[in-house]
Amino acid sequence: MKDFHVETKCIQEGWKPENGEARVLPIYQSTTYKYDSGEHLGKLFDLSVPGHMYTRISNPTVSCVEEKIAALEGGVGALCTSSGQAASLLAILNIASAGENFISCSTIYGGTVNLFAVTMKRMGIEVRFATPDMTDAEIHALFDDKTRLVFGETIANPALEVLDIERFAGIAHAHSVPLVVDNTFATPILCRPFTFGADIVIHSTTKYMDGHASVVGGVIVDSGKFNWEASGKYPELTTPDESYHGVVYTRDFGAAAYITKARVQLMRDLGTCPQPLAMYILNLGLETLALRMERHYENGLAVAKYLAGHDKITWVKNPALSDSDQHEKCVKYLGGKSCGVVSFGVKGGRDAAMQFMNHLQLAQIVVHVADARTSVLHPASTTHRQLTDQQLVDAGIGADLIRMSVGIENINDILADIENALSAV
Ligand SMILES: *Cc1c(COP(=O)(O)O)cnc(C)c1O
Repeated sequence: MKDFHVETKCIQEGWKPENGEARVLPIYQSTTYKYDSGEHLGKLFDLSVPGHMYTRISNPTVSCVEEKIAALEGGVGALCTSSGQAASLLAILNIASAGENFISCSTIYGGTVNLFAVTMKRMGIEVRFATPDMTDAEIHALFDDKTRLVFGETIANPALEVLDIERFAGIAHAHSVPLVVDNTFATPILCRPFTFGADIVIHSTTKYMDGHASVVGGVIVDSGKFNWEASGKYPELTTPDESYHGVVYTRDFGAAAYITKARVQLMRDLGTCPQPLAMYILNLGLETLALRMERHYENGLAVAKYLAGHDKITWVKNPALSDSDQHEKCVKYLGGKSCGVVSFGVKGGRDAAMQFMNHLQLAQIVVHVADARTSVLHPASTTHRQLTDQQLVDAGIGADLIRMSVGIENINDILADIENALSAV
């Protein structure tokens, strides 16, 4: 299916029924699989034949969704996880161990900041943050011989900074390490990071991919392009894995070495696997992803333009605004479009922000973002509450920042709701 357009892949990739089989992706609600001989099952455990052994490691329903997402991103393989957090964790643990470190852009999702700066630190893996104003030389200076990867978000949640993917890929590759990109807010509809040099992509599928705020999930996608052997920094991929009778991932799985290890070693051991029913629901969301992203973009831009012209608004951020400081990168990486998330400040700071939010009727206050319903959140007092003042500044989040996730309702109803709430401030 290599030649179909992305809208077609959203529908047609993944489950491909044989003669007489169900047309729609079946839910294989089974933990286990039957084999005719003990020898065959033994070979599965040696990874010498392909096949499902246990749903923690793989499942036919989950596999179809993985194939679809890999096709959308243009990767050699994907691994679905129980959440976006699990995807971030596994993506890094797969190539970094205690005593090693990695570089991350500071403008990333608050939950990822906690994972990197607190929990991974306790595991002995150190994160070094690169702030948006750093020069190349300053970022190069963060590296040492224990640095194993670089991490960033295509469109940062909620700062809405667009990642200069080529720049960060260039910096990472100069040190023979991969660039890992969280593509949650862009989705492969707006940006395919592999085409700009990223090596690994992750998503919280909880957001636009599901798109209906129904199911938590994540995914890791492998471009298959990073040369682990030539780098010389990843013995976990290039020397025998004792837990599989000496399998060598790069030798035995070639371009799919990284994603195979993430599955058969880390998913086996850590167990953050998705449920088949959750993947069925995610697949329904994926079928309409291209359509929905187009409307999210249009509605988000319309809201951003409306706010930009309102005298009670101090500032508005949406990369698709033509006067945005992110616009140049938005044109290069996102085709000039953005997702439905808009951030802005209301005159009067934190108190006015709260008043505004409390007067919205159609847009509801929820922790979630990036689904069909318009919603609103004040990150500094909720999702990013654990961050210090300096971390908030580094993440690009002011005390007055309101994050509005513009849905796919009729734009006139969304604008009327905003106008009404602003008149009450
Ligand atoms: C929500 C989010 C995550 C975490 O995903 P969960 O599915 O909530 O675990 C990671 N990255 C980004 C950009 C997110 O928005």
